Amino acid sequence: MSPFQNVDSFLKVLCRSGCRAGFWLSWVISMFPFLIPGSPPAHAVDTIRTFQAGAAAVDITPATLPLRVAGGIVESWADKVEDPLHARALVLDDGRIAVAICLVDSCLMPRDMIDAAKVLAQRATGIPLDRMLIAATHTHSAPAVMGVHGTDPHPDYREFVTGKIAEAIQEAYAKRQPAWIGWAADQCTEYVFCRRWIMKPGTAFTVPFTGCPENQAEMNPGHLNENRVKQTGPVDPAVTVLSVQTPGGKPLAFLGNYSTHYAGAPHISADYFGVFAQRIGELLGADPAETPFVGIMSNGTSGDANCIDFSKPPRDFDRFMVAEAVAQAALRAYHKIEHHAWAPLAMEETLLELGVRKPTPNELQEARDYLEKNVKDRPIQNWEENYARETVLVGQMPDTVEIKLQAIGIDGLGIAAIPCETFGSTGLRLKEQSPFPLTMNISIANGAHGYLPPPDQFPLGGYTTWRARTSYLETGAEPKIVDTLLRLLKQTWEANAKG
Ligand SMILES: [Zn+2]
Repeated sequence: MSPFQNVDSFLKVLCRSGCRAGFWLSWVISMFPFLIPGSPPAHAVDTIRTFQAGAAAVDITPATLPLRVAGGIVESWADKVEDPLHARALVLDDGRIAVAICLVDSCLMPRDMIDAAKVLAQRATGIPLDRMLIAATHTHSAPAVMGVHGTDPHPDYREFVTGKIAEAIQEAYAKRQPAWIGWAADQCTEYVFCRRWIMKPGTAFTVPFTGCPENQAEMNPGHLNENRVKQTGPVDPAVTVLSVQTPGGKPLAFLGNYSTHYAGAPHISADYFGVFAQRIGELLGADPAETPFVGIMSNGTSGDANCIDFSKPPRDFDRFMVAEAVAQAALRAYHKIEHHAWAPLAMEETLLELGVRKPTPNELQEARDYLEKNVKDRPIQNWEENYARETVLVGQMPDTVEIKLQAIGIDGLGIAAIPCETFGSTGLRLKEQSPFPLTMNISIANGAHGYLPPPDQFPLGGYTTWRARTSYLETGAEPKIVDTLLRLLKQTWEANAKG
């Protein structure tokens, strides 16, 4: 019996175990099968699957300014580009299925816009609609493509970005080449702190028309606020990374994930997400002249977390410092990676119907009367006016909404995609209960349905629970979403285990 009789399965084991020698051996055998005594026929060798990946970054910086910028309570305009915005796409292909992941330098993108981009990308690549994950980075310094608080979207810019997202996925798909893939995590504790605090009774910031007449919790209470008692939840300090490189070890793409809200930047800017994308390439030794490289940063579960430690005196930081710290953590993770020549891919998607926390007829009437008397048709100017307007807008919503949830399995890495601003405790629970050895949570993906406070956070009140287009899902939404995501993660895990 020839020792090479079962060479196909032998090489598969070598390849899947991440052995680079296995990849090259399989390549040599496929090119020169006659070199191997008793080697299997060519078709047997062809069954060894080649893992491919492609990545692209397409510029989505607006050509004309000024434009309204999303992220604040009242409307604000940008008339200068501080640094460019991009749609950054990564396409992975295990020889059986292809999946696309695209991160967009935007604050929030509505589901219908993302669905339209997927249709365009599907026409261009053939990748099924339910194998694309498209998410916003959550930079607060990009033009509005969705109505949030006092800022209305720009339909022209939204249409432009929709086309560019599809273009990024198409370009990434076209650039697929044999690739090795690996994943790992490290920590960056310097820039992730719970921004929600329990306050002394009667001292928490309270705004009319929010559905919360009394509040115990306050967001960003300030460093000198002596009424602070304690933070409302944990944060996830993980920097989780997915690395893609050529079989020769040159960096092709790198997807990072961190759970801080954003760093802050002059408008218009990709915030620290854009700086990270550049910096991680430098740290990995990427040489764009030789091998094009695309760095990507995604937002983890940062709904209640930001860079500011209110338990300590103020400190200076900016997007460059945050990006450097996160990139250094990503580099530490990278050094732990054992890249694989092949990894099985699986992706699951489902829709989940959830109730909308609508105002009562009385609350609606009070808000309408207030707006008629105080605001009429002018833009809102403060928190109270904003929440009166939001009460009316949420009142116009349907009683239920369908949200899109996804899970991707890449061998030992699970990715959960959540269309909400998710809390740290939720992210940690998903990671703990996921069947995967390592799990990455990507928030604000495939739509934007507001904050997702766990049920125990609603009685505390505070900004993230206040009824608005930024927080309208039923109070029981979080456990339903977690249960569904865990089911999807399990399905992808089992699909990969079956091979
Ligand atoms: Zn935000």
